Amino acid sequence: MAQGDVYATLLTNDLYLPGAMVLAHALKNGGVRDGVTVPGTSKKLAVLVGEGRLSRESLDELANLFDYIIPVPIISGTAHGNLQLLGRLELNETFTKINLWKQTQFNKIVYLDADILPIVPPDELFEIDAAFAASPDIGWPDCFNSGVMLLKPSQESYEELLRLVQSGQSFDGADQGLLNTHFEGKWHRLPFTYNCTPSASYQYTPAYRHFGSKVSMVHFIGANKPWGHRADNYDSMSFGEHVQNWWNVWDKHYVPKGS
Ligand code: UDP
Ligand code: MN
Repeated sequence: MAQGDVYATLLTNDLYLPGAMVLAHALKNGGVRDGVTVPGTSKKLAVLVGEGRLSRESLDELANLFDYIIPVPIISGTAHGNLQLLGRLELNETFTKINLWKQTQFNKIVYLDADILPIVPPDELFEIDAAFAASPDIGWPDCFNSGVMLLKPSQESYEELLRLVQSGQSFDGADQGLLNTHFEGKWHRLPFTYNCTPSASYQYTPAYRHFGSKVSMVHFIGANKPWGHRADNYDSMSFGEHVQNWWNVWDKHYVPKGS
């Protein structure tokens, strides 16, 4: 049965649950972009969960916020060498993301990594007339970053992506290399403000001063996630400020079970 448009995220284990919960709260609550208040989203929320991977407690928490909890098979790669180069062996299972293309019950999906903080819900992305859209990656801007993607599910695309996984063709050993190979020359470019990555090596302070208020979503790429640690005070530059924003959503809306 057709179920319209949906936001989706992914959990391959319990470790990123805090991210998914803050993500969902932020989408439902809305926020301020460029001085304009944007209300919470009217779209449904979905979470793809690795089959048999999440605890009952995590699934119960997800059920409070997400409209659809969709178990999917874990898809892992075989070429560990490239991930060793990245220093991120935990990304071996992110091929599981390609299950998004199999969700043909939905019209369009805006996929968000669990380490995304929506400053405002980017509902306007659903209006874009493209089968696939994403923002450039700061490490290699001719590639897109696969943490925020607008996509149209298609069984055919899913099967092509699965064949690519099986042939070991991911230049970084994770989903981003694979998806960039598949969609090379075929992606609609979204503004960086939809996938602003203040962590890692984003050092362009004058641009941040100029464009920072227009940011719709922040993406905490890299091994250090906001839920991994909490500081007493954060620096006022882009990174610290946004980690503080993440904790603000947590403190305001999220009371984890057992706390
Ligand atoms: N993920 C997960 N558990 C893990 C690693 C990854 O659920 O142990 C999911 C989660 O949605 C995460 C996405 O896969 O946001 C991609 O991984 P990550 O965001 O760590 O990659 P990065 O953005 O740092 O390259
Ligand atoms: Mn991410």
